Amino acid sequence: MSDCLFCKIASGKIPAKLVHQDDDTVAFEDINPQAPMHVLVIPRQHVAATMNDLTPAQDQVMGKLFRVAAAIAKERGVAESGWRAVMNANRDAGQTVFHVHLHVLGGRPFSWPPG
Ligand code: AMP
Ligand code: ZN
Repeated sequence: MSDCLFCKIASGKIPAKLVHQDDDTVAFEDINPQAPMHVLVIPRQHVAATMNDLTPAQDQVMGKLFRVAAAIAKERGVAESGWRAVMNANRDAGQTVFHVHLHVLGGRPFSWPPG
């Protein structure tokens, strides 16, 4: 999608601190980190704007986002201490970029319920 920020990051048109990439996914540091580890994992393709738009065709790539997230958590040494994966959908969740993405947060304790 030509005017999508995360599509531009995935294609290298806008720079980001890349953490991981493969044929299906791209992971990069969040520009405004909310924890010592705050990485975003996205499908390389603009498969859906929000979780509301997912279809069975995206089951595989959406599952892979979690596996990539877990590998990053392990790499950063927070797999055992704990980490959180968050995906926001639309206004009440505070979604600001409409290309589905998984926030991967760690390196500090998180409260529950979330704010
Ligand atoms: P959300 O609010 O769930 O849509 O998350 C969007 C996230 O993208 C926020 O945490 C932003 O800090 C992050 N973000 C926005 N622009 C950039 C960028 N150019 N590079 C990296 N992260 C970004
Ligand atoms: Zn996109």
